[in-house]
Amino acid sequence: MAEIKPKILMVSAEVNPLAKVGGLADVVQSLSSALKSKGYEVSIIMPKYGFIKKESNRLKKVKGGLKIKVGEKKEKVTIWQTSIKFSGVDVYLLENQKHFGKSKIYWGNESERFLFFSHAVLEILPFIGYKPDIIHCHDFHTALIPDLLRVTPDFYYKNIKSLYTIHNLNYQGKSDIGVLSTGNLSKTSLRSLSQDARDGDINFIVQGIINADAVNTVSPTYAHEITTPEFGMGLDKVIKKNKNKIQGILNGIDTDYFNPATDNNIVANYTSRNIIKKKENKLALQKELGLTRDKDVPLVGFISRLIKQKGLELLGEDIKKLDCQFVILGTGQKKYEKQIKKWSQQDLKRISAQLKFDASLAQRIYAGVDIYLLPSLFEPCGLGQMIAMRYGAVPVVRATGGLKDTVDKKVGFSFNKISETALQRKLQQALNIYRQKPSQWKRLQKNGMNRDFSWQKSAQDYIDLYYEL
Ligand code: ADP
Repeated sequence: MAEIKPKILMVSAEVNPLAKVGGLADVVQSLSSALKSKGYEVSIIMPKYGFIKKESNRLKKVKGGLKIKVGEKKEKVTIWQTSIKFSGVDVYLLENQKHFGKSKIYWGNESERFLFFSHAVLEILPFIGYKPDIIHCHDFHTALIPDLLRVTPDFYYKNIKSLYTIHNLNYQGKSDIGVLSTGNLSKTSLRSLSQDARDGDINFIVQGIINADAVNTVSPTYAHEITTPEFGMGLDKVIKKNKNKIQGILNGIDTDYFNPATDNNIVANYTSRNIIKKKENKLALQKELGLTRDKDVPLVGFISRLIKQKGLELLGEDIKKLDCQFVILGTGQKKYEKQIKKWSQQDLKRISAQLKFDASLAQRIYAGVDIYLLPSLFEPCGLGQMIAMRYGAVPVVRATGGLKDTVDKKVGFSFNKISETALQRKLQQALNIYRQKPSQWKRLQKNGMNRDFSWQKSAQDYIDLYYEL
């Protein structure tokens, strides 16, 4: 008998290239594309934010004038559709002026906004004509979908299963109980809600963990770490209790998109067989950033949201004394932006501060730098180190979460201790090898470039999990 493949619906606040703040957007894009290429039917639903323009994103109206009941009120919703370039995966966008009309993804009462989204997603399913077997929920924004599936009396939703993926435990959607009314829920709707409400608030991640049919996070090491008080962010007890239903599946990257052999954002394409050409990208990058043009001086890159999690406290004053150039691309907390800008202004020819979000510049940095730094305090998976390796940049990372699972001695450098000195020592060690042992350096680069970071294996792990539901 022919195998019946489950139909998947991904629900996410971010989807690349339509709306991206971090790795979540990349994962939803590339995992869905990998599933499609393996013959699975997969669609995505996301909010239509104000900045997603209809013309440039080829949005087609699927249905307008829908009314979603929220308590006694009704919220107007329009559904749009487009598809992701290259993969052709269908994306449905839910428009609602009140919650998603602004030109920003994250603002205001996010629990309320995204609970409305989750509730509306289920309501609109019959109108888009896509009935999934599995709803794959991503992050706290959509973590109440499993609750909603459990309480609905409607037969339509009866056999739909849910998988909940935790990309980051830091954002939990902790809210006062009143927020539940946005999804037509109350603390008496489910036992897990009344238990959760006992301390006066509702935690979206906790609900997702308890009510989804399966849960995963994005690397095996992080899946283990979050069972401990150090990484559990207050949820270690719930996580430990549910540990049998929580797996770690390492993210991949889109190796077609992140491909130095074909990337047209960079001046010289290259493979692991002609890494020497990477130098041309380095010289072009130095020129673009106003750094001293020198193919031999080591160039260190850092591309990330500028938040504490990414280890910014470990980049002390002393790091500037190391004999190398730096480029930092990112936006985030003002105090870090200010600090980085100051360093750059003190030494413009050696330190470049690019305080913006720029996907194309990011590619040129991955292609141009020798070393990629990511000293995260915790890191559920991390994509930057994998992209860096794909582009022959050697990672220097802290050994935590997905960084520990992807960076070993054959491809890069890692340190354990959360300290400025530990970071500097490791970076110095990398710089020494770069300068003194070029053949060893080249081997690190080649090993990294030849590692398989594609979604092939991880997508299969997700498929296996879907079949277990
Ligand atoms: P997180 O999801 O915690 O932000 P990840 O490592 O999982 O971290 O994903 C970050 C992704 O966002 C990477 O693809 C990285 O290159 C990209 N990125 C982060 N900041 C910027 C920026 N300022 N400009 C362009 N790309 C960025």
